[in-house]
Amino acid sequence: MLTVFFPPTGFNFAVGMRLQSGDETFTIRATLAANIVDMKAHQKTLDVKGSAGWHCCIKCKNVLNVKRQRIATSDYLQHYSTASLQQRDLNTDEDYWEMADVLEAARPMLGDRSKTKFKELEKRLGVNHNPNGILLDKHLRKYFLPVTHSMEDWAHCIYASGGFGQYEIQQFCIAIRAVRVDMVQKLDSFAAGIRRPNGTKLLPKDFFARRMSTEDDGHIKCFMQETINAVTACRQFCQMVLQPAGRLPKHCECMRLLSEITCLLLSGDRLVQHTDILEQKSEQHRRLSLQVYGEDWATPKLHQFGHVAESIAKVGANLDTRHMEKKHNATKGTATHVMRHTRADGTVLHRLLWSEQSDMAGLSESEFSNCHLVNPQVAPADLAFILEAHLGERISQTAHTSRQMFSSVGKLTVGDLLQFSLAGGRAFGIARLFVSCQALGSTRTATMVVFSPLVQALPRHWQPASQLALASAQHLITLCYREVGEYIEPVLPELEL
Ligand SMILES: [Zn+2]
Repeated sequence: MLTVFFPPTGFNFAVGMRLQSGDETFTIRATLAANIVDMKAHQKTLDVKGSAGWHCCIKCKNVLNVKRQRIATSDYLQHYSTASLQQRDLNTDEDYWEMADVLEAARPMLGDRSKTKFKELEKRLGVNHNPNGILLDKHLRKYFLPVTHSMEDWAHCIYASGGFGQYEIQQFCIAIRAVRVDMVQKLDSFAAGIRRPNGTKLLPKDFFARRMSTEDDGHIKCFMQETINAVTACRQFCQMVLQPAGRLPKHCECMRLLSEITCLLLSGDRLVQHTDILEQKSEQHRRLSLQVYGEDWATPKLHQFGHVAESIAKVGANLDTRHMEKKHNATKGTATHVMRHTRADGTVLHRLLWSEQSDMAGLSESEFSNCHLVNPQVAPADLAFILEAHLGERISQTAHTSRQMFSSVGKLTVGDLLQFSLAGGRAFGIARLFVSCQALGSTRTATMVVFSPLVQALPRHWQPASQLALASAQHLITLCYREVGEYIEPVLPELEL
């Protein structure tokens, strides 16, 4: 991408471009200000080993991800969990270019027999040799500075993809549960009472209880904005419930710092003037969290966040990746429900149905009539039992089934998506079988649909499609989708009546 904007020949943004404005001309030039990255992006752009390697931070020479006892005797080498701001020995851009050059020079000299030695060298430097990588591109060295231009993405350091905020909320929930076994439920009901100014809920129902990891050292499972909201809820819980009772004062203090850091980060470019406060609070939070939750709790992201204040000051902008993340709302909305259920038709389809249903909400209900089976087959004997239970009366032995049924709206086929009017509201379902039978002692023929319930429209809650349900065909109010040739298409009542 950088070679597109700063190529060795032809138009180059750094050289500039002359633009005409009326009779005047001016030159527009652009340089790279920052490359906003999380751990994974660091790893991919700079060919570094990443958080799993010994050198888990690209900015620090002496911060390592190794067993603590291995570096216990060294004053210089530091473990990522405990390295303070003062203890860091920072890499320079030149250091990275030198490491890339050393690897490039070492590679041809060592033959195949020395592969292990070469791998060892890569591991020691924390950089992988990539002949096509950005570090060895001598032309780009003028434009891209590996350390100066790398800006840590605070949103991913704290709130998403296993950020330390997600780990801290998990530990916070474990701590309050140790105070009282139902405290997480109490936190949930407390959080449920918090509304945004527009009246919407801050967090989904039972958020903490459902999203906590079953592993004590895991992290709460949620999206970026949910983590930010969870920090707000936990902070208020500390203020309103824990602190007045004198419970967990250090945990509350730690959550206060995390909440204040959050407020600073969400303040946009105003933060550029106050990076000293951010740095101070980050360091206080880091120290206290290690005291409260133990050193094993820390992940390399906690260390990486320590560089954020400095990066914001250097770049002169508080870059925020939340806006890019928001574009994934539709996918995430679906994923939220996939997390809850395991069946695809009970999950992904739910979301699609809800959006369809909102369009159909204004349509008047109309019951369909004249339902009868196409090519009926004699039903198995045990089905009669179920039908009798549903009808509340005995039926004759002549129950029939079919994969297709005619109704006043046309032919329905197994697999069509149907909507029923049932006691207590509407139900959506996928047709599984059509059944008809005659009640004993009367001439009434009942036609019914066996369906997999998908969405119970009223009351508004999700219902997993784990069981089959039975509805009388005259309760069919809307045919949502039906097969037409190779396609399925939505069918609305007003088109049919
Ligand atoms: Zn570092």
